Amino acid sequence: QAPLHITNEPIKSFESTSTDTVLLKKALEKYQSKALNIPLIINGEKVFKDKDFGTQVNPSNHKQVLCTYAQADAIDVQKAIDASMDSKQRWAKMSLDERAAIFLKAADLISTKYRYDMLATTMLGQGKNVYQAEIDTIGELADFLRFNVKYAFEMYKQQPCESTKGVWNRTEYRPLEGFVYAVSPFNFTAIAGNLFAAPALLGNTCVWKPSATAILSNYLLMEIMLEAGLPKGVVSFIPGDAEKITERVLNDKNFAALHFTGSTKVFKNLCKNIYSKSHYKEYPRIVGETGGKNFHLVHESCTLKHTVLSTLRGAFEYQGQKCSATSRLYLPESISKEFIDMFKAYLNEIKTEDCNENIKGFMGPVIHEQSFDKLANAIEEAKKDPELEIVSGGEYDKTKGFYVEPTLIRTSNPNHKFLKQEFFGPVLTYYVYPNDKFSEICKIIDNTSDYGLTGSIFAQSREAILLANELLRYSAGNFYINDKSTGAVVGQQSFGGSRQSGTCDKAGSGSLLTRFVSVRSIKENF
Ligand code: GLU
Repeated sequence: QAPLHITNEPIKSFESTSTDTVLLKKALEKYQSKALNIPLIINGEKVFKDKDFGTQVNPSNHKQVLCTYAQADAIDVQKAIDASMDSKQRWAKMSLDERAAIFLKAADLISTKYRYDMLATTMLGQGKNVYQAEIDTIGELADFLRFNVKYAFEMYKQQPCESTKGVWNRTEYRPLEGFVYAVSPFNFTAIAGNLFAAPALLGNTCVWKPSATAILSNYLLMEIMLEAGLPKGVVSFIPGDAEKITERVLNDKNFAALHFTGSTKVFKNLCKNIYSKSHYKEYPRIVGETGGKNFHLVHESCTLKHTVLSTLRGAFEYQGQKCSATSRLYLPESISKEFIDMFKAYLNEIKTEDCNENIKGFMGPVIHEQSFDKLANAIEEAKKDPELEIVSGGEYDKTKGFYVEPTLIRTSNPNHKFLKQEFFGPVLTYYVYPNDKFSEICKIIDNTSDYGLTGSIFAQSREAILLANELLRYSAGNFYINDKSTGAVVGQQSFGGSRQSGTCDKAGSGSLLTRFVSVRSIKENF
């Protein structure tokens, strides 16, 4: 095998007069000038529909239709399953070198030829500014595709068995026998890619149901995979009614794994559905990443400005719509006033805006009306609740796009539901604790939420860091010391949490890949 040097894809800065900016603006115009008609892709074939199609609108300007798309019916789903089973043998027999070449080429296409298209479709469809689109669609997506190759080679090399004279023991990393069902979220094009790419690299075939609010970017990704050489049938792209598609998929005896990122509620229903069935040829693997109620715990010894800025970014970048977004904050009494004054001063400079126009604007819209309404209701509830006080923000407006101001809420109750419930938007709730109750507040943080995704401690005191590290051991699968709770980098911090946040199989790591192989031990006597 040729040497493989995998590094993180660098991010571009998009200075206002740069060629990058000119090319991006052209791409933005192209996708805004005409709504595309997007087909299903089953067995490498485009399947267009003339009725029952869905539409994806621009959340920054919801009158603008970005695309109409075909929705899979039961027959289409069955065809996608059949294609995955038919293409399996040939795909699984290809060497890892041959399969890897396709994913490495796709990563290159994404970061070069299709860079501006990937950025534009993600910015328009998913409401990202250029920086958020770069770290997702270019950086993280290319990184997932490339680092998976590195991890796969490392895994295949492992032969954890002794051989003696006259006996040769070996370990084979087979793909699963059936097909993988990949169900992806709107918030990261990179995650959508990894949900099918990680299993597929190992010789699995996938039926992929993308999110209805990420069709434009996800379809482009599917086309890039085909251009990179992914054989037909290995991945089928079937948007549509989640329940109907799922029902058909889970009723098939060849369903072998669920690879999911999305809400805790949907994941739980899927698990319940899978566990209630007994007709599968093999026990399905279940790999899921779901919600979070991620914390920033501030110690009096913290570096104030760094902590304030990290919290602003953790809570409000991409409008708080990362599973890892900071949504609860614990401040020590002695510095809380100084912290909040500085935090509010920065907040006053932030406005929500159309980031397709101001590509570097800090905050765009939330993804859709349902999310907007949920956030607006939470804000109204906060206005009435005597245990809550809106300290900053609290305005929202959906006249043009789904805009919700970054909102900071104080609670006097450390067990308030605003410190437990995930809103998936730009709402941050904080609680002020007495300085001498640091270990108590760690225990409260651990107990108030059912989630276990991400969290951070900000402190210079080593004692405080050690204590938080110990007491919050299971409160976060990604634990940060003096950094924000968002922004895991593939190849540096693998991502995922436990408890109600998922199966902690860690995207961007070799351990995720082990979930999509069925290991065979072979003994040969001479
Ligand atoms: N990996 C992302 C981060 O660390 C979050 C992924 C998600 O939202 O699911 O911020």
